[in-house]
Amino acid sequence: MNSPRLDRNTALQRAAAPSQWDLAIIGGGATGLGIAVDAATRGYSTILLEQHDFAKGTSSRSTKLVHGGVRYLAMGDIKLVYHALYERGLIFKNAPHLAHIQSFIIPCYSFFDKWKYLIGLKVYDWLAGRYRIGISKSVSKRETADQIPGIKTNRLKGGVRYFDGQFDDARLAINLAQTAAQHGGVVLNYCKVTELLKDDRGKVAGVGFTDEETGRRFTLNAKVVVNATGVFVDDILQLDTDEHRSLVRPSQGTHIVVDRAFLGSSEALMIPKTSDGRVLFGIPWHDHLLLGTTDTPIATHSLEPRPLDTEINFILETAATYLANPPQRKDVLSIFAGLRPLAAPTGTNESTKEISRDHKLMVNPSGLITITGGKWTTYRKMAEETVDKAMETGGLTPRACRTKTVKIHGHQTPVQKGHWAYYGSDASGIQALVDSEPALAEKLHAGFDHIAAQAVWAVRHEMARTLEDVLARRLRILFLDAAKSLEMAPKVAGIMAAELGKDTAWIAAQIEQYTMLAANYLPERK
Ligand SMILES: Cc1cc2nc3c(=O)[nH]c(=O)nc-3n(C[C@H](O)[C@H](O)[C@H](O)COP(=O)(O)OP(=O)(O)OC[C@H]3O[C@@H](n4cnc5c(N)ncnc54)[C@H](O)[C@@H]3O)c2cc1C
Repeated sequence: MNSPRLDRNTALQRAAAPSQWDLAIIGGGATGLGIAVDAATRGYSTILLEQHDFAKGTSSRSTKLVHGGVRYLAMGDIKLVYHALYERGLIFKNAPHLAHIQSFIIPCYSFFDKWKYLIGLKVYDWLAGRYRIGISKSVSKRETADQIPGIKTNRLKGGVRYFDGQFDDARLAINLAQTAAQHGGVVLNYCKVTELLKDDRGKVAGVGFTDEETGRRFTLNAKVVVNATGVFVDDILQLDTDEHRSLVRPSQGTHIVVDRAFLGSSEALMIPKTSDGRVLFGIPWHDHLLLGTTDTPIATHSLEPRPLDTEINFILETAATYLANPPQRKDVLSIFAGLRPLAAPTGTNESTKEISRDHKLMVNPSGLITITGGKWTTYRKMAEETVDKAMETGGLTPRACRTKTVKIHGHQTPVQKGHWAYYGSDASGIQALVDSEPALAEKLHAGFDHIAAQAVWAVRHEMARTLEDVLARRLRILFLDAAKSLEMAPKVAGIMAAELGKDTAWIAAQIEQYTMLAANYLPERK
């Protein structure tokens, strides 16, 4: 493997040099990064431009499940579940450091439900074929209560245990960026595409973009341009033509994070049908408990969606119907919302549960390719289809997809223990930093295991440019405990300034911006 280093200056120089790229990809979330890995590993010259940080959008705000989707099975979407379970198997194989098997228990309050869920989950196991990761089983009332000590036992009839995957979404995004770079691709954060270049025939022939750090404008030529901007796809389509039907209907999902003691278990909790017919889940994540539900349609999209108060209350109230000692609003450590780029088929009246989670791939008359919808779990398959389409559209020399076997950066077996597991093979690089400079072993906060060397690593090797990049998406602290992330902020900003050659004014500005951002993740402690 080449060096893990993602160097922004070198990447910008390559972007500025006159050349014609095979593919230019707009958007650095799961979809765009997956396409960059696919295209680069096929040997195409590939560049990806992200307007903010990698995974700033939906791709850091998911439920963190690598799954077929039990819910989609209940909706009869067998094809979607089958493909996603296959992709789940590939993620376990190619990124074992980022995804692990998670067992779930569905508590059942009637024998009918127990049989219904067991039969459905047996089908789920069967659909996974050779990538099955466990066997779904009925569990007794006693075992359910023993395994989830926080569960209410009144009227409980037992449960069903099944297995799915759990992962770190933003870290997978960073590792995908590194994988693309290792295979010769160029990936750039803080580069916003503002223009589509066209040739005499009106065909898209490149993009114009702005380096958001300096305000400098660039243009580059590309045989194919791919719009992989999630909930923003319609904005890019608007640059191509004024006449297009909206492809995306944003749908907002909110998560809250609390102390994992509220569940008291390493099992995850899944409630397939809440009072209003939605799903509620409680998932152990980085030693905390993530509680969330299905999404609510909203009218507008933004990079920093505001969690809805009604959703927070719904999660807390629903959790209280199942947990003996439920979390209160004061117990919430972080709240975050994400926008699902649902591909809306027609009309605007469908409930979000019924709109397809499957992706949409389309080519405009100008040759602009747009890919949207889908799931994190299916990013690889979406990328394969997109690059196949790009070969056709751009007249590229046909080359076979390799990503079923390409190892994601950090791939390592056996997986290490604790939060080092998420770095995979990079953990030894961080250890080497500490060995050369023992002061870097200093903890960033008494409440977390993270050390100063991780912040240094994020700047040197993971293209972290701002305090938010480190605290939100490299270390994940903002998503785990917003208040503690604020306490860490001055120390991390100081480390970053030394690495990036910035002054005290930069530190002060970063802390101020971060404080404003973190306010969105803090619960109001009423
Ligand atoms: C609440 C919720 C929970 C979910 N849970 C799961 C789950 O558990 N498992 C699962 O498999 N899937 C899950 N998903 C789905 C999954 O997260 C998304 O399908 C996936 O992250 C979408 O990735 P994306 O790259 O298409 O979009 P995004 O991650 O939003 O990326 C698009 C990027 O494009 C960039 N961009 C926009 N305009 C420009 C421009 N002009 N120039 C440059 N860049 C631009 C944006 O900044 C953004 O970073 C969930 C989704 C939601 C909303």
